[in-house]
Amino acid sequence: MARYTGPVCRICRRENQKLFLKSERCLTEKCAFERRAYPPGQHGHGRIKFSEYALQLREKQKLKRLYGLVEKQFRAYFEKAERMKGVTGSNLLSLLERRLDNVAYRIGLGGSRTQSRLVVRHGHVVVNGSRLDIPSYIVKKGDVVGLAEKSQKITAILASLEAGKNRETPQWLDLDRATFKATVKDIPTRDDVTIPVEERMVVELYSK
Ligand code: SF4
Repeated sequence: MARYTGPVCRICRRENQKLFLKSERCLTEKCAFERRAYPPGQHGHGRIKFSEYALQLREKQKLKRLYGLVEKQFRAYFEKAERMKGVTGSNLLSLLERRLDNVAYRIGLGGSRTQSRLVVRHGHVVVNGSRLDIPSYIVKKGDVVGLAEKSQKITAILASLEAGKNRETPQWLDLDRATFKATVKDIPTRDDVTIPVEERMVVELYSK
């Protein structure tokens, strides 16, 4: 299935949660979820009773859309998580968190994950001193992620930094704001992922 290109605020309303898919707008009263906290569409106001399958599907869709992935990519992460040692749901979250575009987002390089992905794709991010424009690159412990020196003077990049400057850096990343370099201190565990998601449901859905 193709990547979703419709209005992203519908996703938050559909998942009944603020997913912060836009930039500053998410923090203002213009946020569509703040104004219309009910599902989009003609029957949005009605009372909907979800089946177990529907609940599992919603959790999967939420996680997938939060990280901006298509079904095939998301499924591949799930299968990789299944093959890893440990709890599949936690492995899945850890893999998604370690994507380079998400790391860029976590350290404040972009107002949203979509913006951060573009910053990576346009070659503004360096990993261990070399440019890396692959958003799906999975960072490893000890990797150093930063902003390319030449990019630090580009107006659009400065605007991206401004948009993400108040974002809290997770504990598994050590960000030096002066040089704008972040070291991956540890592989993120379930506790490091603060996203409101029940990954157990995603595992149940795919295990049917
Ligand atoms: Fe979601 Fe942000 Fe749109 Fe609010 S403004 S509905 S948080 S994407």
